[in-house]
Amino acid sequence: MKVIYCRDFGHDCNAKMRGNSVDDVVNAAINHGVSMHGQEHKKLNSAEGREEIAAKIKEE
Ligand SMILES: [Zn+2]
Repeated sequence: MKVIYCRDFGHDCNAKMRGNSVDDVVNAAINHGVSMHGQEHKKLNSAEGREEIAAKIKEE
């Protein structure tokens, strides 16, 4: 299982996104960032944005 912790992005937030593939977790993190933290979807969903998010993935 791949996981991303929102706090690893510097947010004071206990959210944890899970998925079976890198794309699943990255998409979940993007949706969370947009809906919960008012981030810009376009920016997060760019190639650089997705890469930055993917770099925070941990295996659990
Ligand atoms: Zn969060």
